Amino acid sequence: MKKYIIAIDGPGASGKSTTAKILAKKMAYIYIDTGAMYRACALNTLTENINLKDNEKLAKMLEKIKVEIEYSQNGNQLFLNDINVTKRVREADITKLASEIATIGIVRTKMVDLQRKIGENGGVIMDGRDIGTVVFPNADFKFFMVADVKTRAMRRWKEAKKKGEILNLDEVEKELIWRDNNDSKREISPLKRATDAIPIDNSNLTIEEQVQFILQKIKQKKDKK
Ligand code: C5P
Repeated sequence: MKKYIIAIDGPGASGKSTTAKILAKKMAYIYIDTGAMYRACALNTLTENINLKDNEKLAKMLEKIKVEIEYSQNGNQLFLNDINVTKRVREADITKLASEIATIGIVRTKMVDLQRKIGENGGVIMDGRDIGTVVFPNADFKFFMVADVKTRAMRRWKEAKKKGEILNLDEVEKELIWRDNNDSKREISPLKRATDAIPIDNSNLTIEEQVQFILQKIKQKKDKK
């Protein structure tokens, strides 16, 4: 049976990864969180003390950087130069730096290349900002998830609380608005819906409802073929 490439794009905290993880489990596909790759790059510039404006150093760093994902239905693990950085890359400093580094052309070229290699044989659910527009413009299925910013901020806040971290809700909202702007206004591969992506506003949907919606769309298309 054909193994599809499924692209899920959308802004931060729009529920992409939660949905993609559940779908991957149900379909026995691998889940690829492309945001994690930009986060790994960002962390590497921090540990190697590289100024984002220093193109030469950045290029050298990209030549030797090793970003690897160990797949597991119980949670992928992210490795940067053989070190497990799964948790570290979720911290606030890296979240901001990732959005900054993701505006740089040579970084995107390297990451997109890696993402295409991982996904080219299908059987993947990839989430990010430019999967349906740039990485896999011919993906079998494309979804674009959105939710209003207050809902997204509350989700992030609750997620952190579950981990024992109490954040300031206003700060979370501000950070999301800053990132929405930075990601959608950049010149290269900005965050936007591919014209043929199915939009999903999940402000008032449960996770299960979103997952069912996507599975239904996949089934409908399969039935038509
Ligand atoms: O998805 P996540 O919030 O982890 O992504 C972190 C940052 O990486 C985003 O704010 C965005 O700037 C960048 N990104 C991107 N293209 C992708 C995935 C993430 O530019 N495909």
